[in-house]
Amino acid sequence: MKQELEALHRESLERRLRTHVSIPESPGYVMCGERVLLDLSSNDYLGLARHPAIIEAMRDALLKEGAGAGASRLVTGNRQPYAQLEKALATWQNCDAALVFANGYTANIGVISALVGRGDVVFSDQLNHASIVDGIILSRAEHARYRHNDIEHLRALLYKFRDKRRKLIVTDTVFSMDGDQAHLLDLIALKQEFNALLMVDEAHSGGVYGPRGEGLASALGVKNDVDIHMGTLSKSFGIYGAYVCGSETLIKWLMNKARPLIYSTALPPSLIAGAIQALKLVQTEHWRRKRLLAASEFFRSSLCKAGFNIGNGDSAIVPLMLGHNHKALQFSSALENEGIAAIAIRPPTVPEGTARIRFSLSAAHSLEELTDAITKICRLGLQLGVVE
Ligand code: PMP
Repeated sequence: MKQELEALHRESLERRLRTHVSIPESPGYVMCGERVLLDLSSNDYLGLARHPAIIEAMRDALLKEGAGAGASRLVTGNRQPYAQLEKALATWQNCDAALVFANGYTANIGVISALVGRGDVVFSDQLNHASIVDGIILSRAEHARYRHNDIEHLRALLYKFRDKRRKLIVTDTVFSMDGDQAHLLDLIALKQEFNALLMVDEAHSGGVYGPRGEGLASALGVKNDVDIHMGTLSKSFGIYGAYVCGSETLIKWLMNKARPLIYSTALPPSLIAGAIQALKLVQTEHWRRKRLLAASEFFRSSLCKAGFNIGNGDSAIVPLMLGHNHKALQFSSALENEGIAAIAIRPPTVPEGTARIRFSLSAAHSLEELTDAITKICRLGLQLGVVE
């Protein structure tokens, strides 16, 4: 282990935990050591993580329900706020039923391994989140990986595996490290043609797109064509947890078959109470979405004009492509010296040779703060020879 860790260090691939402290009076900032940093790395897209109404709901539930749920949901851990949250989630998504999971990671591994097994096949975009990949491995179904957003490649694989028992297509709707969108309309056409199921992971689009933040499938008017709709409560909702929405049968199936739900203690009721409040805000405080989308557009176009390679996305996730691991670390550390927390993302999180800084924007930030950050990023880009 020591030798391998040293090798990781030499290749600028070692990861380490650093402590970031939140600042109650300054949402959108964190402290690291002595420094106050503009947080351009968190997924608190709507700036809800410090919302007083959410914190109050959590505090009230903490006092009423206690610290922990004490058992799994199928035992005695299914405390009062769960039913209310799941009903509200199902109404929001206009579907039969919803089920809360401990987090997005366990939702994905739980759902995929409950739905497919030996003799089945999962078609998965090459850039899907690691939790989807792990869910497929755990399921023991065939893993048919298609090139990123390459619909013709997917079609060829669907044809090749057309005789498999159950076929599941799964995709991030907004890709977590590139910030671009899945081609949902094409995926739906293929799912119908090949009689497959479609699962979408709206981790980075839930709260952000759609008239009431329902997600990308809703914004594109294709929500009813999606069979399994998964999203997280840890990003736009500002808290922790995840949800899966779909038919009554799907949700009953998952209650009976999804192992992370069955064999793990329920989330503390206070988190669930906070999520109920966050869902109300997600649906009603439209200005947060508008502000986030305006900030994303401004940030993206400014970096693009300055000559940076920021990929093809159009979401609140903006990758600044640097290639070498060392360059990404160097850029990140230079940004930190300038008061910006922007983390370097390296393999295996992203493919070899595509290390980058992943900026993620938030409604917590003002245009003035972003303008200042852009000026600093451009100056460093010139100094480090990233742009000319
Ligand atoms: N899916 C996607 C696309 C993600 O980006 C993430 C988290 N980064 C997850 C799932 C996992 O969610 P969680 O952090 O709630 O475990």
